[in-house]
Formats: sequence, C-alpha cells, structure tokens
Amino acid sequence: MSRSVLVTGGNRGLGLAIARALAEAGDRVAITHRSGEPPQELLDLGCLPVRCDITEPEQVEQAFKEVENAHGKVEVLVANAGVNRDQLLLRMSEDDFASVLETNLTGTFRVVKRAAKGMLRAHTGRIVLISSVVGLLGSAGQANYAASKAGLVGFGRSLARELGSRGITCNVVAPGFIDTDMTRELTDDQRELIIERIPLARYGDPREIAATVRFLASDEAAYITGAVIPVDGGLGMGH
Ligand code: NDP
Repeated sequence: MSRSVLVTGGNRGLGLAIARALAEAGDRVAITHRSGEPPQELLDLGCLPVRCDITEPEQVEQAFKEVENAHGKVEVLVANAGVNRDQLLLRMSEDDFASVLETNLTGTFRVVKRAAKGMLRAHTGRIVLISSVVGLLGSAGQANYAASKAGLVGFGRSLARELGSRGITCNVVAPGFIDTDMTRELTDDQRELIIERIPLARYGDPREIAATVRFLASDEAAYITGAVIPVDGGLGMGH
C-alpha cells in the first residue's frame, strides 16, 4: 500500500532516516528541507523535496499544495523538524526561548493542523510527533528545548483524543541520544557522561527511530494512539 507521507526536516538526521525507511517500504514520500539541499539518495528513491521553513505559515501552505499536487492529500505526517539553542537559564534570552518554541511546538502545530484537514475528510490518518527524552526528564541548559518537547506530549495526546473517532492516530516518539548533527555538537567528555547514564551504554542509530516511526505509521499499529514511545536505550525509564 503506497500512502502520501510528509516528513518535515527530512534532508538530514532522523528525518532523512525516517523518509528513507518509509520510501523503501513503498510509500510516496515528500520531505521538507529548509536551508540544505535534499540528498541525492532520497531523489533516487523517488522522494519529493519541498522547501519549507515551518515557522513561516505561507511556506507551510505552499509546501502542502506541492505535496498534494504530486502525491495527493497527506495520509501520514511525521513532524520531525526541530532545533535547539542550549543555554543556562540566566543566560537564556527571550529569543533563545521563543525561537525554539516557535519551531518545535508552534511549527509542529502548524503542519499538523494543515495535514489534519485532509485526514479529517478522509476519516483516516497517521500523525507521529518527534519529541525527546529530554521533554520527560528535563535537562540542565535546555529549558527551552525541554519545554517545547514536553509541550508536544500534551499536544499529541490532545489530538489523539480529538481526532481518534475519525480514524486518525497521533503518537509521540521520544528519542534519547541519537547520532546526528544535533548531538555531534557535544564534546567527547559530554558524550562519555551521557553514555554512562544510558543502560544500553551507547548512542542510538537514526534507523532505530525510523523503524519505530514506520511501525507507528503501519496497519499493525492501528490501535495505538496517544502513546509516548521512548527509543532511548533505557535512559528515560520510569517516565
Ligand atoms: P538535525 O539538527 O540533524 O536536523 C534537524 C532538521 O530539522 C533539519 O532538517 C533542519 O533543517 C530541520 N529544521 C529545523 N528548523 C526548521 C524549520 N524552522 N523549518 C523547517 N525545518 C527545520 O536534528 P536531528 O535529526 O537530530 O533531530 C530531528 C528531530 O529529532 C528534532 O525534532 C530533534 O529535536 C529530535 N530529537 C533528536 C535527538 C538526537 O539525539 N539527535 C534526540 C531527541 C529528539 P535545516 O537543514 O535547514 O537546518
């Protein structure tokens, strides 16, 4: 079964792995990319790249139009695009806080709302939000990021309740530390300290997040909604 899938921030990192996994499973996959170019491997897999900054409502609307023209209404949305601007509280500016919330939470609201329009009419749909273990555990120096990722849990669970009777599931994936550009910014010492706290004693591979998202988007997961699925090597256990 080939569905129209949209993955935000699909040009690199987790989004790229998710787009690849869904395209390989036979879906018609579109990705948004913002500053970077779409990688050739996604083009080779037949993915459709659309340029979009999710903080810009007009760009979101334009991106959805392009995807709908090429692939039909979005049936599976993976809201993955996100940023961090880490800083200790007293050094965190209003802009550090607001810009992270604007991308991670409001930007996600924007794309989900637009996708839900078509899903509500179709009486079916899958929404997967990429949160973080940090949204559940908290993280010193990441109050803005953690607040945005915790916000996605309340947002996603509200949607699960609001949209469930229309055949739409909404689930949240909470990755731990996964090897991408975002975590490559950490120093070796920081990485070692983190690994000491992870029961599986390693970083995750983007493919391990992609496999979870692919499952949540599959028919087998039809009775799962409002779930927060940790993929974190045990780091967040108990939350
Ligand atoms: P990357 O920094 O590697 O990639 C982030 C992606 O999001 C890029 O494609 C980026 O586009 C896109 N993006 C950022 N801001 C916007 C915006 N305003 N509009 C559109 N696209 C945007 O991060 P990861 O792949 O590591 O992370 C992906 C998601 O997973 C994020 O939401 C992150 O918070 C979450 N996550 C990651 C973890 C990790 O350990 N890596 C752990 C837990 C959660 P561009 O190329 O233009 O910058």
